[in-house]
Amino acid sequence: MKLLVIEDDLANSKFLERALTENGYTIDLAHNAAMADRLALDGDYAAVILDLGLPDEDGLTLITRLKARGFSAPVLILSARRALDDRVRGLEQGGDDYLVKPYALPELLARLRNLLRRNSTPTDQSTVLRVLDLELNLLRREASRAGETLQLTTQEFALLEFLCRNSGRVVTRSMILQQVWGMRIQPDTNVVDVHIYRLRSKVERPDLPTMIRTIRGVGYVLRDK
Ligand code: CA
Repeated sequence: MKLLVIEDDLANSKFLERALTENGYTIDLAHNAAMADRLALDGDYAAVILDLGLPDEDGLTLITRLKARGFSAPVLILSARRALDDRVRGLEQGGDDYLVKPYALPELLARLRNLLRRNSTPTDQSTVLRVLDLELNLLRREASRAGETLQLTTQEFALLEFLCRNSGRVVTRSMILQQVWGMRIQPDTNVVDVHIYRLRSKVERPDLPTMIRTIRGVGYVLRDK
C-alpha cells in the first residue's frame, strides 16, 4: 500500500520512511509542497502523512488545493502545532486526523490503519490485488493462493505485493530493495534472494504452476498468464 509522506524535516522523514517500510507500506517522500504537488498528480496513494510547516507553502493550503483537484486519499496531519485552534482548523480544512509532534510510532501506525480502514469499503478494488490464483487483501494484510491462506511475514507480504503490482514485468534486485526495503543502494548481502526463497516456499505448490520465475542475472518476474 503506497503512502505519500510530505515532510521537510530530514530526520523525521527518514525515520518515517524506515518505520513505515518496515510495516509493509511503500513510501514516496516529498520534502516540500511543490514536490508533493507533482507526486500527487500521478501517484495512487492510499493515504497521506502531512507536516504543516513546509518551506514553500503551508501544509493546509497544499491539501486544500489537492482536494479541490479531486485528490481523495485520507490525510493524517503531523504537526508541532498543538493548540486546539490549529487542530480544529487542520481537521476542517481537509485533514482526516491530527497527530501532535512529538508522536509515538505505535500511535501513528494505529491512526494510519484507522484512516485506511475508514476510507475503504469491502468492495473497494484497490484493497484487493489479484494475479491469477493469488489474492492479496491489502487492508487485512492477508494473502492466499488458490483459496488457501499463506502465512507471510510483513516483509514477505510487502515483497509479494510489489511483485503483484508489477506482475508480468521483470523486477530487478535493486528495484525490490528500493521499493520493499527503502534502500537506495544495493548492499553486499543476499537479502532479496533469501526473502524470495522463503516467499517461494510458501507461494509455490507442487500441484500448481510456478508463479515466481528467476530471470538469471536480472531479477524476478511474477507470472500473470
Ligand atoms: Ca516542517
